[in-house]
Amino acid sequence: MQDVVEKVYEQVVARNRGEAEFHQAVREVLESLDPVIAKHPHYADNALLERIVEPERQIIFRVPWVDDAGTVHVNRGFRIEFNSALGPYKGGLRFHPSVNAGIIKFLGFEQIFKNALTNQGIGGGKGGADFDPHGRSEGEIMRFCQSFMTELARHIGPATDVPAGDIGVGGREIGYLFGQYKRLRNAYDAGVLTGKGLAWGGSLARTEATGYGTVLFAASMLATKGETLEGKKVAVSGAGNVAIYAIEKAQQLGAVPITFSDSSGYVVDEAGVDLDLLKQVKEVERGRVKDYVERRPGARLVTKGRPWDVPVDVALPCATQNELDGDNAATLLRGGCAVVAEGANMPSTPEAVEAFQSAGILYAPGKASNAGGVATSALEMEQNAGRTRWDFATADAKLTAIMADIHDSCVAAAEEYGRPGDYVLGANAAGFTRVADVMIAHGIV
Ligand code: NDP
Repeated sequence: MQDVVEKVYEQVVARNRGEAEFHQAVREVLESLDPVIAKHPHYADNALLERIVEPERQIIFRVPWVDDAGTVHVNRGFRIEFNSALGPYKGGLRFHPSVNAGIIKFLGFEQIFKNALTNQGIGGGKGGADFDPHGRSEGEIMRFCQSFMTELARHIGPATDVPAGDIGVGGREIGYLFGQYKRLRNAYDAGVLTGKGLAWGGSLARTEATGYGTVLFAASMLATKGETLEGKKVAVSGAGNVAIYAIEKAQQLGAVPITFSDSSGYVVDEAGVDLDLLKQVKEVERGRVKDYVERRPGARLVTKGRPWDVPVDVALPCATQNELDGDNAATLLRGGCAVVAEGANMPSTPEAVEAFQSAGILYAPGKASNAGGVATSALEMEQNAGRTRWDFATADAKLTAIMADIHDSCVAAAEEYGRPGDYVLGANAAGFTRVADVMIAHGIV
């Protein structure tokens, strides 16, 4: 890295001690900015880089709640309002025991550039809690969401900060959060949260958007080589919202997804995933991946290793950060994998990214390939503001056009800065310059 950029990184490490994921996300972006700063040195003026790596506001709060047995628990809630240059803070809420300030900061930082890539006037933020929803009853989930929102409500609003779902937060949780917000504010501000139910302000295609968009991005990358997804074997990780709809879109485009996973292991189904059964197990029954294997002849559950041990043409990591390391990348490459599109946020470690880029395969970082989710959230905000509702085809066509535009912006930026085909540089440079230009226009704030 150039001296000016390296100094910013060192300051981030010194100021945010022990927050490894945040350091990792900042390093990846700053490394990409070397050629951008070299060509346009004014982006380093007036401490712009120092400002962009510092959240505008960090909110950390107590979330007390009572379980079914009457025991009181205390979790920690977070909302990091990172950057509002382009619009209200926008980004999901994650409920998972691993959540801490560093994880939320990394996610919020990534979100700035992802949201800029969508070109929809949304700033970057992220939040969540170190609450583990696994094994909790409906009543416990509801009471937790209500307590969480009781504090969060004072910080958010349709023109201020608009949260959505992420790991552990789906339509059910958004419902409880919205119900409590409405009660506290005595206002039906539909635009305060996205990922809502269709009957109360949600958008068609929002549920599918992240997974669909990831696969559309993979298809666009393949098209640059004159290829399609038809007949390609695909490894998917995760079995949540993103994974399920990545599998659905991959199947629609003629590919054959053969794996998925959760924290208990991964499933290999060489005949191709039975999507109806997977939805039944995960979306309806909220079960584990073993429940799929028990009902699906020929499928097997592997409790050691990762889906990346299975030879495939395309890999779609859709579970969580750092789930694909350098060894996994080497295994994928040996097995013939030529396309990686990230549905999750930062699922590949720096060593894995380096391996994919050295091998010259098509590799898309999550901030580009998984931007379809937040893009469709912005479409949901647009419908809420206009008190209107589009049909599925309209929302889906807009999502498809946005993903094509993000892909083309990444390709153009990679070419502009001398590294054609480098989607990491392309995504970071295109996202950064959009935010930086507006920050300069707004002055030192
Ligand atoms: P879900 O909660 O719906 O699903 C997450 C899946 O990943 C589950 O199968 C879960 O298994 C698995 N998983 C989570 N953490 C771990 C872990 N530490 N080890 C192994 N498996 C794990 O979340 P989403 O599908 O919404 O999110 C998945 C990823 O996509 C995240 O990185 C998220 O930030 C990203 N993303 C999501 C968007 C969205 O619109 N939902 C938008 C853009 C990005 P288990 O149940 O066993 O924990």
